[in-house]
Amino acid sequence: MRAMVLEVPGQPLRDAELPDPAPGPGEVLLRVRACGICRTDLHLRDGELEPGHLPLVLGHQIVGEVLTADAAGTHPVGARVGVPWLGWTCGECRYCVSSRENLCERARFTGKDVDGGYAELAVADARYCLPLPPEREYPDLQVAPLLCGGLIGYRALRMTGDAERLGLYGFGAAAHMICQVAVHEGREVYAFTRPGDASGQAFARELGAVWAGTSDDAPPVPLDAAIVFAPVGALVPTALRALAPGGTVVCAGIHMSDIPSFPYADLWRERSIRSVANLTREDARLFLALAPRVPVRTTVTTYELARAEQALAGLRAGAFDGAAVLTV
Ligand SMILES: [Zn+2]
Ligand SMILES: [Zn+2]
Repeated sequence: MRAMVLEVPGQPLRDAELPDPAPGPGEVLLRVRACGICRTDLHLRDGELEPGHLPLVLGHQIVGEVLTADAAGTHPVGARVGVPWLGWTCGECRYCVSSRENLCERARFTGKDVDGGYAELAVADARYCLPLPPEREYPDLQVAPLLCGGLIGYRALRMTGDAERLGLYGFGAAAHMICQVAVHEGREVYAFTRPGDASGQAFARELGAVWAGTSDDAPPVPLDAAIVFAPVGALVPTALRALAPGGTVVCAGIHMSDIPSFPYADLWRERSIRSVANLTREDARLFLALAPRVPVRTTVTTYELARAEQALAGLRAGAFDGAAVLTV
């Protein structure tokens, strides 16, 4: 099969011919139809996160068609399924047995520990493959971004409780979906982009944000919660200062630059900072049922598989609104 392979972190992905992967017990073989691009892929590519093995096939928002079913027939041949970041969990650790499989001590992640979807074929544990909404509502390219930015963004949104005034720092793939969900739930969204990103601010307003500005701006009202999607630690104290008492800053990324120190007064009055890690299959079930009801519309820029490196460069540069998806 053809694949775009990470051989040396910090170096461009290489267009390679690899042996076709063979499904093991409990796994399905998938023909990859599309694969979303996530900032986590960029962190792995740039050497900011350690890959589970090298060479590695990145990609954990796989829309695939089952070519070989698992023995239990969890997904029949021909079914369209999604493969998210959570690729396998042990099922027996203290996290797995308390509905926190996202924190499993032995979890394996797609496109990091298990080869992912920047390829023509992929294998995945059938129990972690997700049934997708109907194709007429969500074609392959439109459904792919739901599988990480959507799912993990939704987990982050739930961590904000019933916050009415919600700030989103970093208006990329995840935020453009979560903005729509938050507006659907009757919240007010305040969107913060990089300085100078007028197009990102206009995009946020189109999607229902009541206010959009740069991360240097103070919002017009104190916020009940903020989600930091950008991998920029300096935004954490910035977001904290934008909060009303009792508010929460949720850090939704897997990697972030260091958080600068800040006065305790900014945290005082029951403000809190927390992170969100990974996803559970329950998060996926809830979000994939909710998305068509909102409905969440994804704005997608497509790249052919061979141009994965350009797609990652575009993400690094903030060159597109919404999400990027590889067509395979
Ligand atoms: Zn991701
Ligand atoms: Zn576990």
